[in-house]
Amino acid sequence: MKALDELTFDNRFARLGDAFSTHVLPEPIDNPRLVVASPAAMALLDLDPAVAQSTEFAELFSGHKLWADAEPRAMVYSGHQFGSYNPQLGDGRGLLLGEVYNEAGEHWDLHLKGAGQTPFSRMGDGRAVLRSSIREFLASEALHALNIPTTRALCVIGSDTPVWREKQERAAMVLRVAPSHVRFGHFEYFYYTKRPEQQKELGDHVLAAHFPESLEQPEPYLAMFREIVERNAELIAKWQAYGFCHGVMNTDNMSILGITFDFGPFAFLDDFDAQFICNHSDDQGRYSFSNQVPIGQWNLSALAQALTPFISVDALRETLGLYLPLFQAHYLDLMRRRLGLTIAEDDDQALLESLLQLMQNSGVDYSLFFRRLGDEPPEQAIARLRDDFVDIKGFDAWGERYVARVSRDGELDQPQRRQRMHAVNPLYILRNYLAQKAIDAAEGGDYSEVRRLHAVLSNPFEEQPGMDSYAERPPEWGKHLEISCSS
Ligand code: AMP
Ligand code: MG
Repeated sequence: MKALDELTFDNRFARLGDAFSTHVLPEPIDNPRLVVASPAAMALLDLDPAVAQSTEFAELFSGHKLWADAEPRAMVYSGHQFGSYNPQLGDGRGLLLGEVYNEAGEHWDLHLKGAGQTPFSRMGDGRAVLRSSIREFLASEALHALNIPTTRALCVIGSDTPVWREKQERAAMVLRVAPSHVRFGHFEYFYYTKRPEQQKELGDHVLAAHFPESLEQPEPYLAMFREIVERNAELIAKWQAYGFCHGVMNTDNMSILGITFDFGPFAFLDDFDAQFICNHSDDQGRYSFSNQVPIGQWNLSALAQALTPFISVDALRETLGLYLPLFQAHYLDLMRRRLGLTIAEDDDQALLESLLQLMQNSGVDYSLFFRRLGDEPPEQAIARLRDDFVDIKGFDAWGERYVARVSRDGELDQPQRRQRMHAVNPLYILRNYLAQKAIDAAEGGDYSEVRRLHAVLSNPFEEQPGMDSYAERPPEWGKHLEISCSS
């Protein structure tokens, strides 16, 4: 365990120089105070969870203090936003404070979001509001607990600094932790500004730091691209399996590591709805729940375009072709497990699709359905769940197929089946209304609900005493919250 001043820095990205990032100091926020910290994220840096209570902690993560070896930098990147190329984006309100390496020899980027203006702020104030910082914190740690790759969040620091969005709010900062903050948009930036040497420097850095096994392949860039395709196929399979809607899948929000990155108006599905659009500015539904799958491929094609100086178009095309089959295989595998099945059968896709169609037609709660399916033996579970469906006959027919399918899968006693299913079907999900209740309390100065919700979501598969209300279906008002895109 380390004290705060014992972190060791090795700022590899900063060393790439001024073509890749610009030195900027964080601008402090007033009266910094701890809103919430994640002991699990602190452990990545070997930090003792107790240090979160110190004044020094709040000072470091609100821009008042800096480690001597930190080198705060704003990174430059570009990207495709809603399908159109934006030539200049970059860290407009976040700073890469530096890379810490821990006792296990891992490097972790420390990125302070809401740290003030940078050369990339354009018209923005460089700030993040308390509301969006809490949402990013909760989502990062909740996804991680669901075994979905994601950036992590170490803490949220609140303040008295006023910021203007639709109304006056308070500034906050969230400390994001990830092995890398390189996005698809980093590669696009150097490609579209026609700087192949710098693009190669970036590529070589990413290869050495994050894809060392690709370096050993005959074509390292191609091997790296293949790995990025595989990781994204798996990531998006997990989003679809767990009902996570990202909301703003622009290429500047896509991580080169295939981890969930940049949280905005995201949502977990309450009622199952394939067409669900969580982002209220997304009029066309470009980033609707079911579109996440083809958009994943679209984004990878945008990255492929940027990699044409290094990889032949034929090889890129062939590698892109791996995405959909890999997605399908991962997704079906996850959904089979959610259904409590272990052996693959040809008809599984059809069995799943008819269930989702029935759920869609009846507005059935997506997460609770799977959880309850494992609570009791198949026949009993089906008998209890049928009341949630409008098309009862349709569901009964599905239930018969399911029960027969489970028995073909092999005998298993119910406690075993329940344990196996509950290990993949969460009881607690970060529903928008739960986040909203915690945010409302936090805006009034009470952080206890954010902390409680974070604790519950850190252990989503296990029933926690006294926490029943977090596992209920959302109230009707809670399903139709307008989550503002401003953040
Ligand atoms: P996002 O929608 O959060 O992914 O951000 C898109 C771009 O806008 C990025 O370049 C951000 O750094 C920038 N940005 C978002 N909010 C602000 C803000 N309040 N001040 C300055 N830049 C911002
Ligand atoms: Mg972004």
